[in-house]
Amino acid sequence: MRYGLVLDPVFLEHRVPPEHPERPDRLRAISEKLSARSAFDRLVTVAPAPAAEEAILRVHTRDHLAHIQGTRLQPLHPLDWDTYSGGASHDVALLAAGSVIRMIELLFRGDLDSGFAAIRPPGHHAEPGKPMGFCLFNNVAVGAQWALDQGLVRRVAIVDFDVHHGNGTQAAFYHRDDVLYVSLHQHPLYPGTGYYTEVGVGKGKGMTVNFPIPAGQTNGFYSSLLAGMVLPILAGYEPGLILVSAGFDAHRDDPLAGMLLDERGYTRMAADLNRAAGKICGGRILYVLEGGYNLKALAGSVETTVAAGLDPPETGPELEPSPNSEPYMDQLRPVLSPYWPV
Ligand SMILES: [Zn+2]
Repeated sequence: MRYGLVLDPVFLEHRVPPEHPERPDRLRAISEKLSARSAFDRLVTVAPAPAAEEAILRVHTRDHLAHIQGTRLQPLHPLDWDTYSGGASHDVALLAAGSVIRMIELLFRGDLDSGFAAIRPPGHHAEPGKPMGFCLFNNVAVGAQWALDQGLVRRVAIVDFDVHHGNGTQAAFYHRDDVLYVSLHQHPLYPGTGYYTEVGVGKGKGMTVNFPIPAGQTNGFYSSLLAGMVLPILAGYEPGLILVSAGFDAHRDDPLAGMLLDERGYTRMAADLNRAAGKICGGRILYVLEGGYNLKALAGSVETTVAAGLDPPETGPELEPSPNSEPYMDQLRPVLSPYWPV
């Protein structure tokens, strides 16, 4: 297994005010955790490369790009109430999006089997026309669009298990059928979008799949939802590539949300997604870091996700079943069954 890892000190250079949750220490914690595990010596280090402006402009408006460019080498300042840019932020954000492109390139060249991009700033809240929610450019969306533009695939699936809804990714592809967007998120919660009735428009109808999940759900709930709905939907779509917006803020110790996952749940999710990718698209699956704000929980969850890819377990850990998962899926079935084998 050639498992790629982007994890580079350059991503510490996007600075934020003190006490901001999306801080450079997140990557320091991940780096410490991964370097302590000798099996990870086998990871293939992938150097970040900046995304070309043209690649950014395939997802974002020219005004959006100019807005972020305008903060280059300026003092740090807020673009909205919680999203900051200044100094090296623009350049680092280009490297974040470019890292996803680079990983996809290596995957299709056959130099990698799979991988994890531990990058920041995160991306899934950034809309085509505006930065938002700590995000400047939508890293996963830029990567997906690039893979399509290069003719590497005809369809890309994005699975987003960050605890927040990826409003930006949804907005980028809401009218399209060549990108499937599946989001599992706490609801209600920031940013407030992601109702199950948001399914896409025009030929994109059915190609946005939202699972708004009440707070307090467990590893077992997520695992059942994956097995019962997410994986059948992925199989039905037959993507050539799966990108995962991997935020770890559904962890029980995360300060920004109220889900109850732990490292075992993330292990199981990665193991199940990887196995599905093996069947659906030759194992071509890439994990791209989004949120996760408790340093210990974040580092442990990234470690276990990478381990599940590097040394695939036969099965993930057995998890306590949730009594809530079947009634929840029964509610969603009428919405999804016109489009998917659920
Ligand atoms: Zn999040």
